[in-house]
Amino acid sequence: MKALALDFEARTLAWSHLDSPEFFANRDVLYRVHEVGVCGTDRALASFQLGAPPKGETRLILGHEALGQVIETGSGVKSLNRGDWVVPTVRRACKPACSSCARGRRDLCISGKYTERGILGLHGYFTERAVDAEEDLIRVPLKLVDCGVLIEPLSVAEKAIARALAVHEGEPRTALVLGLGPIGMLAAMVLKARGFGVRVQSLEPLDHPRAAILELQDIPYESVLTGSADIVIEATGSTEAALLALRQMPPLGVMVVLGAPDGAGPVPFLRMIVNNQTVVGSVNADLEAFHAAVEDLARFERRALAALITRTRFSDLRRTLTGAPMVAPKVVHVL
Ligand SMILES: [Zn+2]
Ligand SMILES: [Zn+2]
Repeated sequence: MKALALDFEARTLAWSHLDSPEFFANRDVLYRVHEVGVCGTDRALASFQLGAPPKGETRLILGHEALGQVIETGSGVKSLNRGDWVVPTVRRACKPACSSCARGRRDLCISGKYTERGILGLHGYFTERAVDAEEDLIRVPLKLVDCGVLIEPLSVAEKAIARALAVHEGEPRTALVLGLGPIGMLAAMVLKARGFGVRVQSLEPLDHPRAAILELQDIPYESVLTGSADIVIEATGSTEAALLALRQMPPLGVMVVLGAPDGAGPVPFLRMIVNNQTVVGSVNADLEAFHAAVEDLARFERRALAALITRTRFSDLRRTLTGAPMVAPKVVHVL
């Protein structure tokens, strides 16, 4: 089976031949990988900034945003059948399971010993076939197959927004998304679908093709960082942008940080106290967020969804991962 793998010993990214994944006949699902999306995490992995191979191995197959079609199901599998389309979740529980993993919330793992497909300790999906347990697969309705590869990145935005809404103690109406990457754009689309007055800010120029995709959906784009909102989703990877929006957040405001690295700058603690404001971190996604992603995908404008994706051949993967970043919000490789 052909796979694109990182070699942690030789520090190279290369196509390799690997054995097909092991299939256990009771609860496993074997599926053919059709499409895999690429994100910033993959690019960081390809330059060895993060990640680890499975225990006892030196190579890690990359890829965590996959869409596949079921080839075979174990006898105990109840909800999936041959021919169904599926998207796998990324994170797997720590062992022995911590209290979060034990109750099915691996995204909230507290031991830090979780694994992640294509990222940390488990092979990913830049390959031909994959095996996952039924519980780790989300069924994709047939009508959403052409944009199903967006379900994983969308689930990250869904969890962040659910967190913000759970924490906000008033009636939030306005939302600001920082960042014009796929997560930022998808977060803006979710907020718009929920009736929020949402705008996106980032440093890309106003005539950037991604801004045009937002315009298609009547989501304003501003190429300056100014002002704030009841709900702020930071998906820009800039501490400075996050602090700027935090300093102007209205009373009860909630900011969810998804991408900002450690950084220095004045944190307006006193202003936050007297205004009952919150800053929350969020990572990964729970099953509820995956299901919300499927529901929202069906709601989004098809033209905008199609514009988010640029498809290219599987064999171009190396270039996508190590070359200059592409203009398209989501580059998807087709097997
Ligand atoms: Zn990703
Ligand atoms: Zn855990």
